[in-house]
Amino acid sequence: MIIRVRRDADPAAVQRSLVERGLWVRRLEEAVQDAGRDRVSVSFLVEEHSRAVTREALLAIDGVEAVATAPSAHPRIDAQPAIVEVAGVRFGAGAPVVLAGPCAVESELQVAAIAERLARRGARFLRGGAFKPRTSPYSFHGHGVEALRWMRRAADANGLKVVTEALSPEDAPRVAEWADLLQIGSRSMQSFPLLKAAAATGKPILLKRGMAATVEEWLAAGEWCLVHGAPSVIFCERGIRGFDTATRNLLDLASVALLAHVHHQPVVVDPSHALGRRDLIAPLAKAALAAGACGLLLETHDDPGRALSDGPQALLPADIDALLAEIHVRQEAAA
Ligand code: PEP
Ligand code: MN
Repeated sequence: MIIRVRRDADPAAVQRSLVERGLWVRRLEEAVQDAGRDRVSVSFLVEEHSRAVTREALLAIDGVEAVATAPSAHPRIDAQPAIVEVAGVRFGAGAPVVLAGPCAVESELQVAAIAERLARRGARFLRGGAFKPRTSPYSFHGHGVEALRWMRRAADANGLKVVTEALSPEDAPRVAEWADLLQIGSRSMQSFPLLKAAAATGKPILLKRGMAATVEEWLAAGEWCLVHGAPSVIFCERGIRGFDTATRNLLDLASVALLAHVHHQPVVVDPSHALGRRDLIAPLAKAALAAGACGLLLETHDDPGRALSDGPQALLPADIDALLAEIHVRQEAAA
């Protein structure tokens, strides 16, 4: 937004009023001709991370002449409600939604046992990779459609929903046959043909943040999904690339607060991929909820030492049980 100051008003006083209302502003000056005389017209550009203030409230400030709205790059996302329902599960209202499971679906028995355990602890979605994006071409890439079938069966048997990744435009319709929520992985966030194909299935999208994506790029990728037919987009922060390799990625909780409280979007956090180590997941999961996340994506494995992928970050059964119990207890105390 751009706020123009009336020619007879004091720009410094207008700026004070804007700052008092929680706006971050940048002063712009433009040389204009007024009745044949040169003068400077002052405006204030409202920065992206400002508090949301209505146009009417700004026009009511003494000294404000006009308010122009710059077109948003993601109008459909801006209009998306903060509470989104996926297969009967509400994100953004009530208890945080837990989406949990192994990194990769390794066998039918494995996923059935994990689903049973998680359902008893209040998880709502079973996660697991059938088509795995792996940095190395020599790593395990998932069991494909067979794994989707195992996951669906395990989820249905335990009253859970399924979230899993679609890795290519060709696979998107096949994955959509088995999943309630289509995951777009970090490495694919700006793979526009994939976003189009995934959205065209008509399934809601869990959009992971690209590891080097800005918040605006992330929101714009969400816009692609809505433009091409997805009914809703749930954003997932999973850590971005920082300069420090002490943890696997840098969990950007500031962006979570921004999405939740400024952009009013449903946002979940994946501390597993952000940290890469199981011992720090519980505190960061709680921090994510405090920052405004409406859910958590968590990896767990019964025997992480033998996991085919991401073993070091997989929560042990006892640890995820304790974490889910604690989240549940806090929720009940808050209710
Ligand atoms: C995943 O959740 O399975 C995954 C591969 O995560 P990311 O895309 O965030 O690396
Ligand atoms: Mn993983």
